[in-house]
Amino acid sequence: MAKNPGLTGLIIEEPLLWEKGGKGRSGMCIPDSDVPAATPVAALTGAGPDFPDLSEVDIVRHYTRLSQWNFGVDTGMYPLGSCTMKYNPKINEKFAATAELAAAHPMLADEYVQGNLQVIYELQSYLGTISGLPGVTLQPAAGAHGELTGMMIFAAYHKSRNSKRTKILIPDTAHGTNPASAALCGYKPVHLKSGANGILPIQAVIDAMDEETAGIMITNPNTLGLFETNIREIADIVHSKGGLVYGDGANMNAIMGVIDLGKSGVDIMHWNVHKTLSTPHGGGGPGAGPVCVTKELEKFLPVPRAIKVGDSYKMEYDCPDSIGKIHAFHGNFSVLMRAYSYIRTMGAENLKKASHLAVLNAVYIKEELRGTLKLAYDRPCMHEVVFSDEWLQEYKISTLDVAKRLIDHGYHPPTIYFPLVVHGAIMIEPTETECKEDIDQFIAAMKTVVAEAKTDPESLRQAPVNAKLRRLDETQAARRPCLCG
Ligand SMILES: *Cc1c(COP(=O)(O)O)cnc(C)c1O
Repeated sequence: MAKNPGLTGLIIEEPLLWEKGGKGRSGMCIPDSDVPAATPVAALTGAGPDFPDLSEVDIVRHYTRLSQWNFGVDTGMYPLGSCTMKYNPKINEKFAATAELAAAHPMLADEYVQGNLQVIYELQSYLGTISGLPGVTLQPAAGAHGELTGMMIFAAYHKSRNSKRTKILIPDTAHGTNPASAALCGYKPVHLKSGANGILPIQAVIDAMDEETAGIMITNPNTLGLFETNIREIADIVHSKGGLVYGDGANMNAIMGVIDLGKSGVDIMHWNVHKTLSTPHGGGGPGAGPVCVTKELEKFLPVPRAIKVGDSYKMEYDCPDSIGKIHAFHGNFSVLMRAYSYIRTMGAENLKKASHLAVLNAVYIKEELRGTLKLAYDRPCMHEVVFSDEWLQEYKISTLDVAKRLIDHGYHPPTIYFPLVVHGAIMIEPTETECKEDIDQFIAAMKTVVAEAKTDPESLRQAPVNAKLRRLDETQAARRPCLCG
């Protein structure tokens, strides 16, 4: 930890450029004009805006410092569980910015945008292959939007069979967006309790599944970072009652090229491109949530989808059973372009390796910290590991205190208090892009914080002391946000 925080870039108070400027400073030198001006310039332009006078270095330092007030994967490890904050190779940004593709207007006729359509078509087919579900739409703008698309397909499917269904089964470990998406489609979410081992028990599904239930939404690996080992049996029970299985694919980073979702009994799933397939996120920017379905459900997918006719590509609109459009044009193309570039540059073998390493890194953290924090579920984890606050309670230290203290040690905190089924959850997802040395450093920071909790708990309660802002009043920030600086 820095001994003198006053010297770190994170602490410097940065004035406004207007406060900073000095009269007569400039970022460039233009020689005096040797041509007499016919009309005084000011007569044409007026006095001009009240811009401060600044040198180039004033401006570069100002914006560089401001950029360092934020924390991102480009500055350090970002172990936010459930979010897959992996490092995004810059080459994907470069391809996404390719002018010929990025500047193409979505209303251009197919023959003028063959390159764009090829990207869309091939990405559809890559995602179909990796998931084992061959029907693909790239339109949804994010994971939750993919879920909504999936629920609309559930509804269209049951309607086509004249089957009236009103409920959806959702385990208590689900992301909050799952019940919300189901409810938006008029389904009543029925909560299923996960077992003492963090896995959904087969019996819970047998007891709840009936012919008024449209199906189940299940996240695998689940939000505890555990593999739902009963998935095939659960899918069979749901199918036997005429229901469908929705797989929340937010955690695909653990299983790319390893698990065939189609074979595991899933009928519909979404990808979080901005998590698994290397689009920067966390700042609320655009994402994408492509949806993959079985051959049987393909006809319900949104229109249009890219198809290949002979050697050329076209957008197919003629799909009478489609649920319609769920996004303008073809989805967030530049985000999809990053995913395409990521998949092409990685190749099948490296995608699989990424998943293997993501799991290995999480398992390593789990084993290294098992004596430091209480494991919520002591069983093999996948790409993320969840600890509880149980061993901290006797020092009157909360999960929030640990998270805030980690900031002082230079880390973005892990996800906390999620999933709700774990008391004071601390959910760590290192991703595959961290090397062993960096993970060891993070583990050492976690151990130091927990040691401090025992010997100097006040240092945790006061944290962060080494950041630009101290502890925020989160209730106040949520209830009375001040959005205007
Ligand atoms: C992130 C996440 C979602 C929602 O995805 P968005 O892209 O943020 O809409 C859904 N389910 C799980 C398990 C997630 O982690």
